[in-house]
Amino acid sequence: MVGYKLTERGGLLVLVSRQHSSQECSECGHVAPENRPTRDLFRCVACGHTEHADVNAAKIVLRRGLWSLGRQLAG
Ligand SMILES: [Zn+2]
Repeated sequence: MVGYKLTERGGLLVLVSRQHSSQECSECGHVAPENRPTRDLFRCVACGHTEHADVNAAKIVLRRGLWSLGRQLAG
């Protein structure tokens, strides 16, 4: 449905894996379940980066999307 709408409007759909996005640090890339002391809080056990868990996960997904898009554009 989203893909259909984007095509209609000339947008672009990039599919991104969400795997471990909730446990990966957006600053240093460290992945650990311990990075999520609570449901809403992200606190990296490696570098100390602290952020709302949803914001951190959004940055991870954005980075993966840009990486995926770059690969597609590079052919
Ligand atoms: Zn970190």
